[in-house]
Amino acid sequence: MADHKKVVRIIEKIAEKIHENRQFLTDLDAAIGDGDHGINLDRGFQAVIEKLPGIQEKDIGFILKTVGMTLVSTVGGASGPLYGTAFMKAGAAVNGKVELEVSDLLTIIDEAVKGIKMRGKAKRGEKTMLDAIEPAYEALCKALEKGSTLKDALIQAENAAKEGVEYTKTIIATKGRASYLGERSIGHQDPGATSSMMIFTVLKESCED
Ligand code: ADP
Ligand code: MG
Repeated sequence: MADHKKVVRIIEKIAEKIHENRQFLTDLDAAIGDGDHGINLDRGFQAVIEKLPGIQEKDIGFILKTVGMTLVSTVGGASGPLYGTAFMKAGAAVNGKVELEVSDLLTIIDEAVKGIKMRGKAKRGEKTMLDAIEPAYEALCKALEKGSTLKDALIQAENAAKEGVEYTKTIIATKGRASYLGERSIGHQDPGATSSMMIFTVLKESCED
């Protein structure tokens, strides 16, 4: 499905997507947080881009772990340790691999979700990135179980992530900075759920099936 070169290309595409949307993500965070989400993530993924030439011949586990450690050390704010832990846990689960099967992709996302939950102690419905990632993961699994192609399954996953982002508009934030706003957080979409949705968009766009 994807060798280490493809994984590197997908990481580059994620960095591009975040870079293109840095102002949008920052504006979303300005409404319910402190207005740094896009800037934070862009800084982190640009640091990742600088690291890639030195690690692109390594195995996929090593590459993902390096992405995670780079995000932890360069992204200020809650999202750095959260996304960082997600990539580090994902990397640990595919240690030594130079080629990923579809089942590995599921493992990677499952581990990422577990990492975010472990680090942030949040669950679905608290207006965080989990409201996009978890439904996307479930939609991906369900579609593959039904025999969908990977491309179709990733389309379903992206749609579920988009619905998750829409759902965050309807609920009160109970984790992270946005929770300080209480009811006033209703009506605003969560920036972290939005950046997570963008990662699923990149996965869909990167799949050639
Ligand atoms: P900060 O809030 O520290 O400024 P960012 O602005 O970079 O950090 O990221 C904010 C995003 O982080 C939120 O939109 C939310 O999706 C996510 N987030 C915050 N706290 C948690 C948590 N405990 N678990 C999961 N995601 C969280
Ligand atoms: Mg912020």
